[in-house]
Amino acid sequence: MRLLVVGSVALDSVRTPFGEVKNALGGSAVYAAYSASFFTSVDLVGVAGEDFPSEYLKLLKERSIDLTGLQIKKGKTFSWSGEYASNLNQCQTLSTCLNLFKSFRPEVPPKYSDDKFAFLGNIDPELQLMVYRQLKNPHLLAADSMNFWIERKKKQLVNLLKYIDLFLLNDGETRDFSNEYNLRKAAKYVLSLGPKIFVVKKGEHGVIAFLKNGSFFSLPAYPLKIIADPTGAGDVFGGALMGYLARCPKLNKTSIYQGIIWGSIMASYNVEAFSLNRLLTLKDKDLKKRYQEFKKIGGRSSSVEHQLPKLDRRVQFPSPAPN
Ligand code: AMP
Repeated sequence: MRLLVVGSVALDSVRTPFGEVKNALGGSAVYAAYSASFFTSVDLVGVAGEDFPSEYLKLLKERSIDLTGLQIKKGKTFSWSGEYASNLNQCQTLSTCLNLFKSFRPEVPPKYSDDKFAFLGNIDPELQLMVYRQLKNPHLLAADSMNFWIERKKKQLVNLLKYIDLFLLNDGETRDFSNEYNLRKAAKYVLSLGPKIFVVKKGEHGVIAFLKNGSFFSLPAYPLKIIADPTGAGDVFGGALMGYLARCPKLNKTSIYQGIIWGSIMASYNVEAFSLNRLLTLKDKDLKKRYQEFKKIGGRSSSVEHQLPKLDRRVQFPSPAPN
């Protein structure tokens, strides 16, 4: 099934100990859509200015991402700049220029309104809600957010969560959002607001997923030899997870677990280079290789190995995205 992705389309300027980029392709919708396109067909809703380079649009089109819902307006594209010091798990935002996002009203084109799966990427929660309201009958709705919105629009985010099935935050954001340091207690709070699944992204420490029925599971991150730029890892993770779930016949603990593995694999590749550069050259054989390596992380007798579901044949050759 097709996946609708909404979020920011951005020009990012990022500095890490390993280099820097200026006005690079970025944004939560871009990272999530690009990643999801390895698993399913993607419809994108967002806004960009006339300054948004046409070669960036070409990269999205090359992955068959439908851009009917991307408004190109007179004005400046959303831009963000951030810096990572030696602790690559922590990003310092240097500037966030909402630009066209200030007046953006998302419009879901009629041909997307039947989409059953949606990823409401990191963006103003009021805009996320507007997208939700335009969907006819969503089966699985995921949302992501970040400190910028938690600090400014917590009430609106809490309201959005009533309609969300799967919510994602990183560990720092989880603690800020819930005012609770203990992640299990924080998850209990988040799940009481509406979501059935809450996924806490912990960067190089992996992921913990909490389910409404009280169960939870965790997955370590792949220990990388090269990390150039962690920007977008969370969005890439969320896009792959939802892209994978959109093509699964059933939503259950196994499919969520497997989606989390694919999310972690895609995110691990993304951080190897700046912007989307590593994903641009990603091949099926790379995905298969890391899947096998992922299985080894926990060792033969570990519960990870034991729980790891068989590689879904349809995902073994994930590109181009099927209909
Ligand atoms: P992540 O590293 O997963 O948190 O995502 C970073 C991406 O989010 C960058 O490409 C930014 O352009 C985008 N971003 C940063 N701040 C915001 C914001 N306040 N609203 C929407 N997108 C943002």
